[in-house]
Amino acid sequence: MFDLESLVRPNIRGMKPYSSARDEFQGEARVMLDANENSLGSAGPEQFNRYPDPQQRAVKQELAKLKGVEPAHIFLGNGSDEAIDLLVRLTCVPGQDSVLLLPPTYGMYEVAANLNDVRIERIQLTADFQLSPEIVAGVVASEAKLVFLCSPNNPTGNLLHAAGIEEILRGFRGLVVVDEAYADFTDAPSWTTRLAEFPNLVVMQTFSKAWGLAGLRLGMAFASPEIIGYLNKIKPPYNISEATQQHALAALHDAPHFEQMRQQLLAGRTWLAEQLPALPIVAAVFPSDANFLLARFRPDATAVYEYLLGKGVVVRNRTTQPGCAGTLRLTVGTPTENELLVQALREFNFAS
Ligand SMILES: *Cc1c(COP(=O)(O)O)cnc(C)c1O
Repeated sequence: MFDLESLVRPNIRGMKPYSSARDEFQGEARVMLDANENSLGSAGPEQFNRYPDPQQRAVKQELAKLKGVEPAHIFLGNGSDEAIDLLVRLTCVPGQDSVLLLPPTYGMYEVAANLNDVRIERIQLTADFQLSPEIVAGVVASEAKLVFLCSPNNPTGNLLHAAGIEEILRGFRGLVVVDEAYADFTDAPSWTTRLAEFPNLVVMQTFSKAWGLAGLRLGMAFASPEIIGYLNKIKPPYNISEATQQHALAALHDAPHFEQMRQQLLAGRTWLAEQLPALPIVAAVFPSDANFLLARFRPDATAVYEYLLGKGVVVRNRTTQPGCAGTLRLTVGTPTENELLVQALREFNFAS
């Protein structure tokens, strides 16, 4: 029923990808004179004079073990942002096709669509930021090439109901992208465990959140080998630098530290979720499966935002997002940062 070929842009189907020097010769040779590299070495303290592995084999091998998927099901991007952009470009003919978004959600989907001159369809989530039978029916009826489902959702923090996602996977004609940037902060199983069932499923995760490597720029997409093959075909040949690949490998070998930070952030989330509702200016704290909490403030969230800024505490003002009037998004920090935030909010007074 699902036909990937008919979803892929015709020019990409027929396109011959760039064949890099490292595609045409892999491994070690005594004399490497094929890529116009500098055999003398590198300026700066470390050696990066050779082009990196365009397929990131070593990183994917480690990731495959960790995630329980085969390397052929993994794409690595310069942040998830690159995967988002490539998925839009893979499927949507500019000026013709559309993507479907479920606001309030992550802003980069819209930016990627706009950049590529791709129309945006929108179906707003319910008041508690969920899928409903009507929303699912709307998604399934859509002609969009791609739907982005963010779960746990940014900026609201909640998981989308699995049953709704499953119905969308069964009924939607385009690619279903489940963005799991916050997967490490939830007990719910990843949709990567369902890849074999759904040829239209793409799951995105990232090193930017629980791994603490936002500065590295490394995102993951998991999908069928056919979809991954197309993403590899259209990506810039050396999209993941050697420094990033080396660092990601070191991080993957440092899993105990990852786990310890993850637990500490989860404890911080629990603590904040207990403290915030007790404050008179907090009207609601939304349930979160992520490393942040969306909270509704009264009477004026933007005044609270400005007040916090004055105290040197930056949070995200989400008041203008659909369904998010009066809300600020608060990232879970260190225990000290969390206490500073709560103390500052406790001292906010309505006259200020
Ligand atoms: C933070 C975040 C990402 C991560 O993007 P990177 O480009 O990998 O840093 C992806 N999706 C969502 C919804 C996010 O909130």
